[in-house]
Amino acid sequence: MEVSQSPEPDPLEVAVTKLHGVGAERAVLLERLGIRTVGDLLLHRPRRYEDRRNFSTISRLLSGQVALTCGKVVAMGTKYYAKRTKCIFEIVLDDGTARLHCRWWNLRYMEKYFQPGDEVVACGKVAGVKPRTMDHPETEVVDRGPEGSPHMGRIVPIYPLTEGLSQRWLRGLVWRTVQGLGQDGEKPDAASAHPQGRLFEAKDLPGGCQGFPAFALPYGEAIRLMHMPDDPADPERARRRLAADEFLDFQRHLQRRRKKFETRAHGLPCGGNNTLIKPLLRHLGFKLTDAQTRVLKEIRRDMSGAHPMRRLLQGDVGSGKTLVAFCAALMAIESGYSVALMAPTEILAEQHFRTALKWLSPLGVDVHILTGSRKTTGSGEPGGKPPFFIGTHALIEPTFAPQNLGFVIIDEQHKFGVSQREELLRKGRYPHLLVMTATPIPRTLGLTLYGDLDASVLDEMPPGRGRIRTFVREQRALAKVWEFVKTQLKAGRQAYIVYPRIEETSGNVKAVTLEFEQIRSALAPFTAGMLHGKVSPAEREVVMAAFVQNNLSALLATSLVEVGVDVPNATVMVVENAEQFGLAQLHQLRGRIGRGAHESYCILVSGAREPEVAERLKIMERSSDGFEIAEADLAIRGPGEFLGRDQSGAPDFRFGDLAKDLDLLREARRVALQSIEAEENAAGRREPISVPETGGRTRNAT
Ligand code: ADP
Ligand code: MG
Repeated sequence: MEVSQSPEPDPLEVAVTKLHGVGAERAVLLERLGIRTVGDLLLHRPRRYEDRRNFSTISRLLSGQVALTCGKVVAMGTKYYAKRTKCIFEIVLDDGTARLHCRWWNLRYMEKYFQPGDEVVACGKVAGVKPRTMDHPETEVVDRGPEGSPHMGRIVPIYPLTEGLSQRWLRGLVWRTVQGLGQDGEKPDAASAHPQGRLFEAKDLPGGCQGFPAFALPYGEAIRLMHMPDDPADPERARRRLAADEFLDFQRHLQRRRKKFETRAHGLPCGGNNTLIKPLLRHLGFKLTDAQTRVLKEIRRDMSGAHPMRRLLQGDVGSGKTLVAFCAALMAIESGYSVALMAPTEILAEQHFRTALKWLSPLGVDVHILTGSRKTTGSGEPGGKPPFFIGTHALIEPTFAPQNLGFVIIDEQHKFGVSQREELLRKGRYPHLLVMTATPIPRTLGLTLYGDLDASVLDEMPPGRGRIRTFVREQRALAKVWEFVKTQLKAGRQAYIVYPRIEETSGNVKAVTLEFEQIRSALAPFTAGMLHGKVSPAEREVVMAAFVQNNLSALLATSLVEVGVDVPNATVMVVENAEQFGLAQLHQLRGRIGRGAHESYCILVSGAREPEVAERLKIMERSSDGFEIAEADLAIRGPGEFLGRDQSGAPDFRFGDLAKDLDLLREARRVALQSIEAEENAAGRREPISVPETGGRTRNAT
């Protein structure tokens, strides 16, 4: 690598323009790929690899097979048709065994890439063998060149490109840079002799850091193997090492932030004195589950501790998070601090408000609601006790300025962004924080999203719940489904019927407003109501109240009913076009039933014909474990789908894969803890660090 002379800068920070062959023009193109420095270039990840040690001979190509082959261009040309508005460009490759036709439609510029006599590597699906054809294959003009060429005779990286950069040029550049030699065609040496290795010394764990296999491969070697694999297994080895490093950086960042926060922020004394909690528990009519008791102890310890609580409460739908949150709220109120609870929807805020009126107002707690459409004072007599505010995003508005805010609760945290949570927290001076979620978070996501929170899990359901049975059905069985629903309604129960859309249909996907009349008559004489995002808040409340009071037998809705709605008499949930939902979301929806003593039924109606879809839905038949379902969902749909749009604050990892790198994440977390502890010891402080792992229940233990 050619780097500028003195003073010696960090070689990884050196601009790519200093590299041989990179002028201003190419630098602009590289920048489009996010490559500004040598370090960026070395981390440019190949999107795939081609094993160019062995090619399929053209004569052996089989129809339908994806193959890599190589031959000389013996003919080429463009055919125009449809009054020259369309064209096919074709090259014919010959490798001595047979000929292969490579065709591209309507890509006029392809012509300029090839010359007769060029040696071309083609990778693609064999469209037919009479004649042998590939349509739109990926190609590259190569030459066998001297031994040790980066382009042939080895496992070759294929990089993401941008228009104007050729695969071959970029590969050559990376190749030379990785070798740190700056000359073309130099043969790579054994790893140990690699000058690049030293560049990354800081990335390797110090000697004595045993027991972290994810970090065993030296970082510099991982970089080399990513670009110049010797073996087909090398790219994955390299990826894992680079991912481990990414996770380590991220975990260190989280832990440092947390440490800094703890030195800056003092915990408000919110442990309470039981004067309100005791009478509440006496009048509830049921006992706390062991899990609730345990979690409340954890919370009390935090709320009376030296630092503000930062705790995540995970618990499957129906596990009784609300009661835990309310007891915690009472601790703060007993201690003289006000409390704010933020929920993602008005329906949910209203429901919490009703529960608070029922449970807390009799104790003299001053309960308020604050939503976009309503701002009311609770019926509790203000007896000088600090207030309990329940609301939606409206709580973030500047007009909401509570005095002495000691405790913030966020329900269904995954529906909010991290910034919204922070905004609410800023309404007090480091209030305690409890975030709750019923979406069981796959453990990898828990470790990243909530890595800086302590975790509590309600892993026990309150007793006396009826079982939920789940069935996957096809649309043609719908008549029978409605019959079944009616038998339940006849028995006095209620039903949810859920649709993916409000009013627009596409293809086979149903919308609630379009189905409503038909379903209502199908269910007659039983009554049905409708709830979706375009129903006005006032009417929503009327409908919801009617359903809660069993004046409506069936509620047709969108996934709006997903979060938190609690009607124990509802025992049936039909989800139409269930394939449109993620498994974790279906699990949430299903949590609306099975909340009373009666047996409940969840019927997932699939509108798709593909067997994979039915397979995916069948996971719901088999499992009622939210964590298991969440992990299956993550594996199938990937983290992006799982998290929803950029709401989550989850970092984008370049090498890390949240669907499969749990082991790496855990190791990185342990290394981060260890290294920060070492830093602290070096700084002379000797406070033991314990940050529990988040994101799962006991099996999550490292
Ligand atoms: P989630 O965790 O999904 O938010 P909720 O807090 O809505 O669950 O609780 C579900 C239902 O269980 C509510 O009706 C609540 O009153 C009831 N519940 C909570 N804790 C207990 C308990 N220990 N025993 C019996 N019922 C309980
Ligand atoms: Mg809830």
